[in-house]
This record gives sequence, C-alpha cells and structure tokens, in this order.
Amino acid sequence: APAPTPDPGRIFRSKLPDITITNHLSLHDYCFHHLPDSSDRPCLLLDSSSRSFSYSETYLVSRRVSAGLHNLGIRQGDVIMTLLPNCTEFVFSFMGASMIGAVTTTANPFYTPAEILKQLKASGAKLIVTQSQHVDKLRSFSDIDLWGDHSSFPVVTTDDPPENCLHFSVLSEANEEDAPKVDVDPDSPAALPFSSGTTGLPKGVILTHRNLITSIAQQVDGENPNLYLTKDDVVMCVLPLFHIYSLNSVLLCALRAGAKVLLMKKFEIGPFLELIERHRVTVAAVVPPLVIALTKNQMVEKYDLTSIRVVLSGAAPLGKELVGALHARLPQATLGQGYGMTEAGPVLSMSLGFAKEPFPTKFGSCGTVVRNAELKVIDPETGVSLGYNQTGEICIRGQQIMKGYLNDEKATASTIDVDGWLHTGDIGYVDEDEEIFIVDRVKEIIKFKGFQVPPAELEALLISHPSIEDAAVVPQKDEVAGEVPVAFVVRSNGFELTEEAVKEFISKQVVFYKRLHRVCFVHAIPKSPSGKILRKELRAKIAAANSAA
Ligand code: AMP
Repeated sequence: APAPTPDPGRIFRSKLPDITITNHLSLHDYCFHHLPDSSDRPCLLLDSSSRSFSYSETYLVSRRVSAGLHNLGIRQGDVIMTLLPNCTEFVFSFMGASMIGAVTTTANPFYTPAEILKQLKASGAKLIVTQSQHVDKLRSFSDIDLWGDHSSFPVVTTDDPPENCLHFSVLSEANEEDAPKVDVDPDSPAALPFSSGTTGLPKGVILTHRNLITSIAQQVDGENPNLYLTKDDVVMCVLPLFHIYSLNSVLLCALRAGAKVLLMKKFEIGPFLELIERHRVTVAAVVPPLVIALTKNQMVEKYDLTSIRVVLSGAAPLGKELVGALHARLPQATLGQGYGMTEAGPVLSMSLGFAKEPFPTKFGSCGTVVRNAELKVIDPETGVSLGYNQTGEICIRGQQIMKGYLNDEKATASTIDVDGWLHTGDIGYVDEDEEIFIVDRVKEIIKFKGFQVPPAELEALLISHPSIEDAAVVPQKDEVAGEVPVAFVVRSNGFELTEEAVKEFISKQVVFYKRLHRVCFVHAIPKSPSGKILRKELRAKIAAANSAA
C-alpha cells in the first residue's frame, strides 16, 4: 500500500478567481499605463493649494525629477530618502526615483535626529528630500558629513532652502531629456519602508517593483466586484505616505486606477470634513482613530458627506461598535477593513463588500485573502496548518511579499520560511465564509494609532540610562490610540529614579507616538531560561491592574 501522504494542510484562497498580473513591468510604467488616454484627467490635488496636476503633468514632473536626481549623481540601485509630509513633491520624488531604478526609503518627518540618522545609515540613502523646518535636525548629525559639499550628499527642500541645501526646482525643473533610459529589473527594490516586523529593531523592508505591482493588482486590477477604486473616484490621502498603507493602498492604487488623489498634510477634523464636501471625495482610507473622530465629533453633522462611497480602515483592529456607529453616520457608504503588514507588501486581506453584493463582509472581519495569494493559519507550536474557525498564526505566500530585510539575512530567514511563507506574528482565524478575523498578536510590536512602536527600540534606550539595569516595554490597551507603550523598569542598585524622569529621558529621543505612558518599577523582568522577556506575563499584569482600577 502507498505510504500515507502527509497532510498538506489547508490553504485559504480568495473567493475571486486569480488574474493575470503584469508584474514584469516597472512600477511607474504599470501605474501610468493609462497614459496618454488619461492625460487631462486630474491626478494630484493638494489641500493647501489650488494647484492641481493632471496625469500627464504628474508623469512629466516625475520624469524631470528623475533627470534631476540623475544630475545630482543618483544612479540605478541608489537609495534616496523622503522626509516629508504628504505633498506633491513626495509623489514626484518617489516616481522619479523609480524611473531611474533608484529606491525610496520613506521616513517620518517628525522623527528625532537620532531616529532619522538610524534610518539614513541603515538604508545607505545618498540624498534627502525634505522641508526646511527639518534641516536643523540633519545638521545635528556629528558622525555623518552631509555638509562638506552638496554634490556629495544633496539635501533638497521643497520650500526656501537653508544654507547648503538645494531647492526642489533643481529636480522638478531639470530637462526630462537628461533622464537616462533605464531598464528596471522587476525584482529590484522600488521602496524601502522600515518596520520592526515580528521582533527587534526597525529594519529596511525591500519591496520590489514586482512585489508592489502584485499588491496593487490584487486590490484594483481585473474584473473587480470589490470596486475599491475606479477612475471616477476622488481619494482622500490623509494617512502619511511614509507608511506603506497610504503609499500602496491609497496613492499607488489610485494612480493605477486613474483616480484623483487629494493630498492632505495633516489630519484635522474640520478641514478634513470641509475637503470631503468641497471635492466630493468618494473614497476615504482611514485608521481606527479617524473612525472614532468621524463617529464622535459633532462637526460631522455640519458637512455634506454624501459623496463618500467607501471608507476603508486598516493598520489596526477596528471594533464592532465603531462599525455600527460609522454606519449610522454615513449610511450610504460601505465600510471595509484591510489587513496589512509592511513585509506583506502590505495587503493580506480586504473586505469585498464595497459593491455591497455579492460579497458582504461581517462586522469585525478584515475581509478575505487577496487574489493570486495563499494564506494559511498555523498552530504556533507545531506549525501544522489549521482549518476553518481554528485560531493560530497567519501566514501568507505570493509575489507581493517582500524580497527580504535589507542586509539582514537572519531576520529574513526567521520571517519568510523555506517554502516562501511569510509569518506575520498575528493570531487569527478564517471562518466558514473565508473571512479573516484577527484576534491577537504574538509579535512584540505595539501599535499607537496604527503607527509602529518597536519595544526593542525603547528597551535599548532605557537600558542606556545609567540608573536603569533592565527594562521591558509592552502594550496597554487604550480607547483612542488602540495601544500605548508601558515600561517595566529595574533601577540599578542604590539609584533614585522617578517615573517622570524616565518618561522625559525617552520622550527627548523619540517621535511623539513612541513616548511612554506609564513606567512601573519592578525588581526583575520576568524572562525565559533562554533570556527572552516573558511579555505575555507583563501584558497580563497590566490588564489585571487596569481591571482592578
Ligand atoms: P505595519 O507593518 O505597520 O503595517 O503593521 C502591521 C501590523 O498591524 C499587522 O501585522 C497587524 O498586527 C496590525 N494590523 C494591520 N491591519 C490590521 C487590521 N485590519 N486588524 C488588526 N490588526 C491589523
């Protein structure tokens, strides 16, 4: 008798059939594929200005920027850094870099100098595009010489350039004919966002042209009952473009679909609502805290929001109650959830309910796995894949997942296994209708309003304090932010140290959302025999203290 075949395990797939994806192209050719037909259609619009850019203008300025980057010495495979809020220059820089086969690493402009420096060094960026207000932070770097000669490390500002900086017009007004013709390898990097993944410090996530095209296609290409985005949509781009959710699922998907993108620099509820009304916004990509604002803020009543067809929420879990409250506010709109992870390209699953029929999604579900991909749920202990309604770690496979972490084979190998499965560190299940529910996280990461707070980064800073012997950082649930970081600190023998002093020590070194909300002094950090922090125990301690309070 034949030997019994080992159980291949259940693999979950989209309810939609696979499509042919043209992922042998370069990202810019793929996104601007509808030119010249779309030439005159509006492409980019900025909240603070009346200037809009049509598709042909956006393409032309991006080409000029690619020539300008080349003139400044940027070559195929080089990395540039954007340290920018949402603005048209972000789009031109990203696309311009792509056109000469260069890579963009996107950084949060509110990062502290130390945070910027870490990303700059790790990514090996050779040019920065930023605003003059952030230049002083760059000047504070003592161990990297940005300023000797700006042909060796150009810093380009989108407004009046401070001393030794160049104005963005050196890029945007370059002669497009100077741009070299570059054959872009689809497996070469296009974007290099940073993420701490399932453990440790932030790492560069290599997303190739093929990865990004596959992910975009999974969202907006082909016969699409999803109707997430079409050329007739006006998309609100308020989430920061330095995060892959906004870069991919808002900007790049909109460009591919030929939609109009409304770039908003900073979320403020009044201007946000006013812009939706004025521009008849049809699709709003948001994070749970924005859903809270939309459901709770009285100003919402004063505006005409009937143009909104789709609200997509992602980056963090969205509670059932919020879904109901939002539906009451925007009865005409379909609310969908997307589940993403930078390393996954980023979208793993999306609601298919935007066209209402035939795929309604349930409350609390984050949709079904995207097309042209495979998803499985495994027992975290045994690795065996589980069936419907069984909870385990979510893994995904497909051409959209990252190529790997930059210069970190070890972290890559512990995230993508030999069979090509990306292990997310998220715990969830798939129900009998193929819908995915995320219920917990086994990885360390804390998510404050959808932003990553890597505990390892805060722990390293804490331990660098002379009066701190050991430390651990874990999440505490928070109604508005979702989660906030809380530190457990062991004081060094004989040292006095207050909670305020610890908080201040950290807040000076990190961007606002990584600040500690509480510090608990303890005698020891619970650890496994191998020295791993027992985070579950600490999380349980916080939960117990909160429920007793
Ligand atoms: P990032 O790489 O910053 O996009 O963070 C990815 C992580 O955010 C995921 O691995 C999840 O832990 C969490 N996340 C993203 N989207 C959702 C969602 N819809 N529901 C629950 N958690 C989410």
